[in-house]
Parts: sequence; structure tokens; C-alpha cells
Amino acid sequence: MSFLRLYGRVLAALGPERRLGWLLALLNTALALALFAEPILFGRIVDTLVRAQAADRTPGWGELIPQLGAWAGFGLFTILAGVLISLHADRLAHRRRLGIMSLYFEHVLQLPLGFHSEVHSGRLLKIMLQGADGLWGLWLAFFREHCAGMVALVVLLPVAVWVNWRLGLLLVVLLAIFAGFTFYVLNRTQHLQQNVERLQSDLAERSADALGNVAVIQSFTRIEAEVRGLRRTMEEVLAVQIPVLSWWAMVSIATRAATTLTILAIFLVGTALHLSGVASIGEIVTFVGFATMLVGRLDQLVAFCNTLVMDAPRLSEFFTVLDTVANVRDRPDAVPLGPVTGAVAFEDVSFSYDGKRTALADVSFRAAPGETIALVGPTGAGKSTALALLHRAFDPQSGRITIDGHDIRAVTLASLRRAIGVVFQEAMLFNRSIEENLRVGRPEATAEEVRVALERAQAAEFVARQSEGLATIVGERGRSLSGGERQRLAIARALLKDPPILILDEATSALDAGTEAKVQEALDEVMKGRTTFVIAHRLATIRNADRILLFEGGRIVEAGTFDELVRLGGRFAALARAQFMVGGPASGEAPPVET
Ligand code: ADP
Repeated sequence: MSFLRLYGRVLAALGPERRLGWLLALLNTALALALFAEPILFGRIVDTLVRAQAADRTPGWGELIPQLGAWAGFGLFTILAGVLISLHADRLAHRRRLGIMSLYFEHVLQLPLGFHSEVHSGRLLKIMLQGADGLWGLWLAFFREHCAGMVALVVLLPVAVWVNWRLGLLLVVLLAIFAGFTFYVLNRTQHLQQNVERLQSDLAERSADALGNVAVIQSFTRIEAEVRGLRRTMEEVLAVQIPVLSWWAMVSIATRAATTLTILAIFLVGTALHLSGVASIGEIVTFVGFATMLVGRLDQLVAFCNTLVMDAPRLSEFFTVLDTVANVRDRPDAVPLGPVTGAVAFEDVSFSYDGKRTALADVSFRAAPGETIALVGPTGAGKSTALALLHRAFDPQSGRITIDGHDIRAVTLASLRRAIGVVFQEAMLFNRSIEENLRVGRPEATAEEVRVALERAQAAEFVARQSEGLATIVGERGRSLSGGERQRLAIARALLKDPPILILDEATSALDAGTEAKVQEALDEVMKGRTTFVIAHRLATIRNADRILLFEGGRIVEAGTFDELVRLGGRFAALARAQFMVGGPASGEAPPVET
């Protein structure tokens, strides 16, 4: 994105506050114009005094009072306008910073799981915080400086030429040289800064990744290695950042030099012109005022260019995420899915993640309301993918999925997902209280409903044992609870949501016999009376299922009840023999299965 387009986008992001933005910009323009009056009036007063002195008379108050009065008036206006702008610009920028952050947050949460599996949460968080900060800084600077600065530059030069064209041209030449140098640096540093930002994002991602896996880092004694890895990235950041800083330091030196040179040149040229009778002392005074103002504005312009170069990559990243379109979204004519009985049908569903390798091929099956369907098969066979399509984590490339006869793409995502509960293999708890974790699916549940859900999920007892009961904070991802406890809370959460359709990814991690029995009881409870799809690893679940679907290579290769499939003597029978009947996987021919 070019700088100008990017800057336009930054200002457009003021969104609902645009009107106040325009008002502030107008006030700022008026302020910039009023500021010109000061050097002009000052020059006039000096000329009045010099003329009186030359005529050897005392200047009359009648001549001076209108000029002094106008000066005071302009001065007062600039103070008032300045205060108003600062006050409102500050508030506006802070409000919009939070506004755009919440917009980004909502947008990112809506993006499909495919996007989240590609972009690390640490990177997304960094883009949100730094992007919003960058926008905030630019908005604030626009209202406080840029707007007035741009107006000043556009108006200052013609006015300077009008007051005295020789001195005016001198200012124009100095400005052109300076602008040329700044644009040269701008171009040189733009790409370098993009690399800096990419590395900064890597840094955020790496640190967040390490923090999320702190247990592994400690147990594998990787602290030193991780810190070393982080330092290496930091060194790379510095190596790329330093040339950018050096270039901008040179611009800064040039600005300082320009200040002195400009003022000196105006004095020198002004004195020469005065001696040859083409410039008054007042004009020289006015010009020194102009030059000081111009240099001040140039300083601001350089600061602005510098900020833009530094912020552009992070702002681009921010807008790129905001522009990412969710490929799974509501159709314009989507209608809410009403109360459903839970009849589910997959009709010739095919899907590929990357458009090349098939993850699911022509999968068809039906589930009547209340049935339990077990999905079994080797890792990578497509079981999770099939169920991900049911709650529209992705949409199939061909075929369709219906719930009570409604194509799931024709109903709103929110209503579809309200009808489906998911118990993930990993419990995925928030770092909030147990109660908040339970209520995520139904915030309005009564205390009694929460209690019953906990009872049915075999979780009431251990929750009561927690120091703060329901108010206990469970830690990041529920770390302060055991695996079995986390699973039972996840089950209670699904029970409270009470959806007609349930997706269950059975945990593969081994639990002790007592906990296993409790989790099993909880699962039996949660499956009661709803259509359940379970990625099954345990014999009990598979035996009790109404139908078993055996997946291999993205296809359903066998389907039926446990007894039917065993009688069939095919792949499932071999799998079941290897897995469950001879005490574990013994035969080399048996297909690999998750346990
Ligand atoms: P299962 O649940 O039976 O173990 P999956 O449905 O997870 O199998 O995987 C089916 C195929 O799709 C595998 O080849 C797997 O590598 C691939 N796959 C799964 N998830 C993704 C993903 N997010 N992106 C790309 N490929 C994926």
C-alpha cells in the first residue's frame, strides 16, 4: 500500500467519529491561518516604529493600537483554538483506538479456524495492540500538527513570495532541497522497515509460543535455548533497524542545519536587499518569523514521515487482517435455524484443505434424531474434518450437509452453532472462574441449572473441593485442574448449553480407572437424548453406538452396528480384534488406530 493510500485509510478508520474529525480539521486550518498573521503584524509594527524614527517623531498610539489589537485578537484565538483541538483530539483518538481494537477483536474471532491455524495468536495480538497504537498516534498527530502543518506549507510559500518575492524564492529553494532529501530517505528506509516489522512479529509469536508451552520448556530444560533463540531474533531486529535509524538521524541533522542556514540566509540576503533598497526592516523581521515557522513545520513534517515509515508495515498488517474475508459466513438470504430435532445428513460431501489433497471424498451418511454415531479409523482418515464441516468450521467443495432437511449453508452461522455443542478433546477452558467457564454456552442459566449440569457431569464434588468453589479461577487453559477435571467441566459446559446435536472428540489421554469411569458416566449423560457424533477411541462408546462409520483415506469404508461389522469380518473386525479383543494392537496388519 502506498504511503498516501495508507494514510487515507488511517483517516478513514476514524469511522463513526468522522464528523468531529472534520470539525477539528477545520479549526486546525483556521489556527494555521491565524498563526501567519503574527509575523506579518510584527513586521508592520516594526516598520511603523522605523518610519517614525526615520521621520524623527514619536509613533502615535493611533497608528499602533489597531495593529496591537489585531495581534492580541489573533493571539487569543490561537490559544483558544489550540486548547480546544488538544482536548478533543486527545479524547477522539483514545475513543477510536479502543473502538478499532474492538472491531479488530470481533473480526478476528469470526475468522475461520483455518485462518487461526495459520496465524499464531501471539502475532495476532501484537498486530492488534501495535496497529491500534499506530493509528492512535497518527490520528492525534493529524489533528494536532499534520493538518495545520500541511495548510501552513501550502499557504506560507505563496504569502512569502507575495510579501517579498526575492526572499520568498529563497525559502522555496531551501524547502525543495530539504523535501527532496527527505523523500529519498523515505524511499530507502521503507523496505528496511518492513523487514523490521516482520521480525518484530516473529518475536511476538515466538515469545507467545514459548509462554504457552512453559511446562514443556521447563521439563525439557529448554529455558536457555529459548532465550537464546529469542535473542537471536532480537539481534536480527537490531541489525535491520539500525540502518533505518541512521538514515533518519541524518534527516534530523539536516533539519537542524536547515534551521540555522535558512535564518542566516534570510538575514544575509535580507540585509543585502535592504541596503539596495528593495526590502524594509519590517519585511526582514516578517521573513525571519516565516522562516522560523517554516522550519518548525518542516520539523513536524519530518517527524510525520518518520512515524509513517516506522508505522506503515504494522498498519498494513493491521489492515490486512481486517480485510481478511471469512470464507465461511452468512449468506445474505440466511435464515435462523429454528428448533431442531437433530436429524443430520451428509450427502456426497467432498472437501480438501488445500485444493490438492482430498481430506473427504463423497461422504454420505444419515443420523436420526437422538442417535449416536461413532466415527472410527486411523489418524488422518478425515473424522475430525467431517465433524468440522458439520459446524461449518469450513464449507465442503461439493455435496451438502443438512440438519432437519435444511442445508446448513442456508441458515445463519450463529443459529447453527447454537444447535450444536462441541466437547473438544482438549477441554479449552478460559482463565476465568469455573462458573464463567460453564456459562459460556448459556449465560442466563439459573444457579440450579448450573448445579444440575455439574452433578450430571460428575463434577460437583471436585468443584465443591476447590478453595473458592464455583468462583475458583482455573488458570490459563484450566491448568490448575487435572485432565479428568477439565474434561468433566467441558462436559458440564455442553450439558448447560443443551444443544440438540453434539460433537464429541473423545480424549485419547489415559485417565486412571476411577476418573475414566466418572468421565464415562458424564459422557453418557451428555449424550442422552441428542444426536451425537463421537470420534471414538474407547470400546464402550463404540459398542453402544447406534452406528459405526469406519473412515479411511477420507472415505467411509464400512458402516453398521458393532455386531454387524464384526460379523462382516472386514476392516473393522480386524481393527476391533487388534484393538480391543486381544488386549491391544498386536497384529502388524491391523490398521493403525488412535487409542
Ligand atoms: P482424523 O480426525 O481422522 O485424524 P483429520 O480430519 O484431522 O483426520 O485429517 C484428514 C486429513 O486432512 C489429514 O490428511 C490431515 O493431515 C489433513 N488436515 C487436517 N486438518 C488440516 C488443516 N487444518 N489444514 C490442512 N490439512 C489438514
